[in-house]
Amino acid sequence: MTDTTIAIVGGGPAGSAAGVFLARADFDVLLFDHGRSALRKCAFLENYLGFPAGISPAAYRDLIHEHTATAGCDRIETEVERITETPDGEGFRVHGADGEWDVRYVLATSWAETEYLSSLGVETVPEDHSGDVEVVPTDETGQTNVDGVYAAGRITETYHQAIVNAGDGARVARTLIERERPDFYNDWVVPDGYYERYDMAVPEGVEEITHEERRERERSAARRMTEFFADRQ
Ligand SMILES: Cc1cc2nc3c(=O)[nH]c(=O)nc-3n(C[C@H](O)[C@H](O)[C@H](O)COP(=O)(O)OP(=O)(O)OC[C@H]3O[C@@H](n4cnc5c(N)ncnc54)[C@H](O)[C@@H]3O)c2cc1C
Repeated sequence: MTDTTIAIVGGGPAGSAAGVFLARADFDVLLFDHGRSALRKCAFLENYLGFPAGISPAAYRDLIHEHTATAGCDRIETEVERITETPDGEGFRVHGADGEWDVRYVLATSWAETEYLSSLGVETVPEDHSGDVEVVPTDETGQTNVDGVYAAGRITETYHQAIVNAGDGARVARTLIERERPDFYNDWVVPDGYYERYDMAVPEGVEEITHEERRERERSAARRMTEFFADRQ
């Protein structure tokens, strides 16, 4: 375990978005998922910005899984059964069906499961409308009542749309990045020489690329998306 090892429980829109941001900021991301996202119940996704013709939930799922892998997340397809403190009190131990993992942080995005958090004393409350599901209260940074345990997405009783939950995962990931790496800037890719114009060094977390490199990335992205959707027709 390093200071930036994090267990994200849930690989839906919230957990996957958080994973991409955290892995790109060099966190060691263990992304636990047993594959039962609420999106499996959606017939066709038409309100996710960037897909003007809509996208099937299965294609969206495959894309977000590929994105987390490209960013460097380690995906562990298992059910998290409980989480305890490590014996030295420095972090948390994730107990899954297939093993145990020690981490410094936990991010719960596991709509609608909270039972595995009870061994840590994480506060949960009944959801407003249904009453038969528990949700996790957080402060404005996404932290629960237990230091180092965060929550994001539908499990925190935000609105019930994938893009809202993905945005929430990204927001809480940014909070964590700021906590561990205060000098890390914006996770931007900018044209070569952009900061020189402002007489600034390139900030940590920003990558400057040449025009040729930009063209190459554009071509490579277009090839990958063409191939991806061609396989699904
Ligand atoms: C019928 C229906 C239709 C919908 N239609 C739309 C729509 O058209 N457009 C739209 O934007 N939204 C739609 N939604 C809402 C959308 O599915 C959710 O808002 C979104 O999936 C929530 O994202 P999330 O990441 O917070 O949770 P989820 O997507 O539910 O992801 C949670 C993940 O946590 C994992 N998990 C849970 N517990 C554990 C555990 N103990 N160990 C390991 N993994 C665990 C699950 O496997 C799951 O992958 C619909 C929902 C439903 C029910």
